[in-house]
Amino acid sequence: MKTGILTKPEIQELFSSMITKNGEESRIFVPATIEGRVILEEFSPEREIFYDFANFLRPPKGIFFPQREVLCSFEQERAVEVPPAAGRIIIFGIRPCDARSFLFLDKIFSAGSSGFADPYYLGRRENSVIISLSCIEPSEGCFCTSLGGGPGDESGSDIVAFDLGDRLLFEAHSAKGENFIEENTTEFRQPDAADQNAKKESLQAAFNAISRISTDGLVEKLDDDFSDSFWEEITATCLGCGVCTYLCPTCHCFDITDEKDRDGTGTRVRTWDSCQYPLFTMHASGHNPRAEKKQRMRQRIMHKFSYTPRTTGDVFCVGCGRCVRKCPVNLDIREVIRKINGE
Ligand code: SF4
Ligand code: SF4
Repeated sequence: MKTGILTKPEIQELFSSMITKNGEESRIFVPATIEGRVILEEFSPEREIFYDFANFLRPPKGIFFPQREVLCSFEQERAVEVPPAAGRIIIFGIRPCDARSFLFLDKIFSAGSSGFADPYYLGRRENSVIISLSCIEPSEGCFCTSLGGGPGDESGSDIVAFDLGDRLLFEAHSAKGENFIEENTTEFRQPDAADQNAKKESLQAAFNAISRISTDGLVEKLDDDFSDSFWEEITATCLGCGVCTYLCPTCHCFDITDEKDRDGTGTRVRTWDSCQYPLFTMHASGHNPRAEKKQRMRQRIMHKFSYTPRTTGDVFCVGCGRCVRKCPVNLDIREVIRKINGE
C-alpha cells in the first residue's frame, strides 16, 4: 500500500497545481465554509480547505448524479444529445460513509443492476478519484459501524486521508489511489511511527463515539408481515417532506420530464424524486399503490434493508445519520430498526 504525508498548506499547494496539469483539466471538490456553512465546494487556489467539521449537510452524490440534469435537447422530432461532462473529478474530504455510498450507486447506474448503463453518471464517475477524510468527531446520529463501515473505512475510497492535526496521512486503497500518490511522489514524505500512532489514537476515539444498532437477521425479520398498525405508528408524525431521501447518500430515485417550448424545441430533464411523496407511484389510471404515508415509509425501509440486500447484496444505508439529524419531526431510522428487532 502506498502511503504519504503532506502538511495542510502542502495539500492546498498540491491541489492548486492539479487544476491544470500535463494538459489535463481536473475539477477538485473540497470542504469549504461559505456564509458559515461547511459545504463540498469546487476548489480554486483562493479557496481555503476547511477541516474542522463532522460532515456536510448534503451528500456528495450530486457530483455524479446532479439534482437536476439535462439529458438531451430536442427540436421537433430530432433529439440532440448532450455529451457527458469530460475531465477528471477529484473529491477530497468526504467522510468514509459517503465514499462507501458510491459503491452502491455504481451498482445502480451500471449495467449490472438494470441492464442499462447510465452514461451520464458513469462518464463522471469513471474519471474520478475519491480521497476520503477519516472521522475525528462523529455526529450524534452516526451509526456506520453497524453497517460495515467505520471512521477510517476504505471501501469506496481510492485514498483514505487521516487528519493528524497539522498534517494528513494518505493511504492508497486502489490502483487510482496508488497512481495519484505516484504522480505526486515528490510532494509526499513517508510516515513514521509517530504518524501511525496518531492515526490509531484518532480512529479509536472516533470509533468509540459512534452509536450502534443490531442488523443481525434484519432481512429475514422484514419478511415477517408487519401489520399496518406497525407502520402507522412509525409514521404517525411523518410530514412526507422527503428530506430523509434527498439527504441520503444512497437514495437514487429520479423522474424524467420533457420541458417543451411553444416552437417544438425543448429539453429532457432528470430530477431527483422521493418515494416519500404521494405522487411518486401515482399511475396514469389514477390508482396509487402507495397512497398512504405508512405504505411509503414501509417502502423506504424495505427497499434499503430487504430489497437491495437481495438484488445487489448490499444494505442501502451507510449509517451517515443525516436522516436522523435532519428529519423535522425526529423520526429516527435507528429506532425503526430497533422496533423491527423487537427491542
Ligand atoms: S424527513 Fe422525517 S418527516 Fe420528512 S419524510 Fe422523512 S421521515 Fe417523514
Ligand atoms: S438512510 Fe439515513 S443514515 Fe442511512 S445512509 Fe440514508 S441518510 Fe444516512
